[in-house]
Amino acid sequence: MTDKRPDYEDDVKDITGAFGGAVDDIKRELERMPLDRRGANAATKKVGAIIKSLTGKAGNWVDRVIPKAAKEGISRALGALGIGKKKAEPPVSRANSGMISAASEDTYADLLAVTKNIDRRTKAAIRRAVADTMRANIEAGINGRRTINADTAAKIRAELGASADNAIIDAAGRRWKVETYVDMVTRTKLMQATNDATINEALGRGVLYGVISRHGATDACAKWEGRTVKLVRDAPGSYPFIGDLPRREIFHPNCRHTISPIRNPLPEELESPFRAGSNGGDSNGEDYPDIPITTHNRVHGLADSTDKIIRNGEEQLRPLDYERGIIYDSKGNKLWEQSGEQRRLNIKEVADRGLLKDNIITHNHPDGFSFSRADLGVLVNYGVKEMRATSGPYLHRVSLGNSKVTLNEILSSYSELESYLDPLLRTEVKSGRIGIREGSTIFYHEIVKRLAVQYNLNYTRERL
Ligand SMILES: [Zn+2]
Ligand SMILES: [Zn+2]
Repeated sequence: MTDKRPDYEDDVKDITGAFGGAVDDIKRELERMPLDRRGANAATKKVGAIIKSLTGKAGNWVDRVIPKAAKEGISRALGALGIGKKKAEPPVSRANSGMISAASEDTYADLLAVTKNIDRRTKAAIRRAVADTMRANIEAGINGRRTINADTAAKIRAELGASADNAIIDAAGRRWKVETYVDMVTRTKLMQATNDATINEALGRGVLYGVISRHGATDACAKWEGRTVKLVRDAPGSYPFIGDLPRREIFHPNCRHTISPIRNPLPEELESPFRAGSNGGDSNGEDYPDIPITTHNRVHGLADSTDKIIRNGEEQLRPLDYERGIIYDSKGNKLWEQSGEQRRLNIKEVADRGLLKDNIITHNHPDGFSFSRADLGVLVNYGVKEMRATSGPYLHRVSLGNSKVTLNEILSSYSELESYLDPLLRTEVKSGRIGIREGSTIFYHEIVKRLAVQYNLNYTRERL
């Protein structure tokens, strides 16, 4: 599972196409210019006009595309935080409109430097070609010929043609082809504007952390994928500050990683790589091996007598190869019982009848895994007292306790953890250290465990 990246391909193609086209036009002018003063004057004028039109295009492009990249960043922040509806035009905060002007000026200055560079180098090359031709003519005259020889003329024209092509030398002294350079500069600036807008939007809403996107990078960025960072240096916790990350490794030129704001980041100790038996469990990820049932009941605030009734019901559910659910009130009275399809139950009907609030719902998971995203969504959304799932050799139980988690938070964090743990699970399975079934059992258990720590939920799993 990977994150969706912002797509600026068409916009980048637009601007590199404009620069590439201008370079071609200039080359064509140079190819056909007569190598004399009049020819030089005419060609210089034409090059000037091409550059002027290119500069205009660059200005329009910046005005159109930088705000668009910023809005993409704002929408991403709102999406990640589960705020507002999907709108075409997100509101732009004052911090972001300031950022948009600065980024636009900056990008325009970079592009202007390229056009000026092409202009200066081409015009210098034209002057040099004319001077070289004149000198060659004088030498030809001295040698009694009327015109310079073809080799000399070809050499002068070749130099002239190359002048438009290799126009850019960057601060490190590297030579760039114009289109390659413009591609790199604009791509980098667009990603920067996107990420800056995301960060500004997050900070404007009091969100101090972000998670770096995942695309399965193979360069130096790989080690930062999925990592939590602070968006301001003095935010609590020992996560690295985004401004301190080494630019050679992440958010480098052409980097396409984004940042996804998160209100309650994962505790650092749980960010560790996912392994079979990690985080204190045994090889099955067992966490509460020898704790008596009464203790489990105390954790979830359930009377032992009610629990006993529910366990009897669960004995009937456990062997089924389809899902079946039962709802009990806190006294152990059965309020509802129904079978679902193989993997899910229809919860809407019971929710509409008000049977979920403050009651206990139990069901079986024929696939043997811990709670699904939908299960936790039901728990939070309907104020269920306790959600239980019996699957394979386990009984999973989760209750809200004093948690203030919202539906949006639990759903987006669940997805977040799924995509964080998924590549780790794949690596483990591929290595042959665990089987896919064992891996998946640990996978869902790890997700729920981490959510429980993150949002202060009560989660227990016991081996029956
Ligand atoms: Zn990257
Ligand atoms: Zn379920």
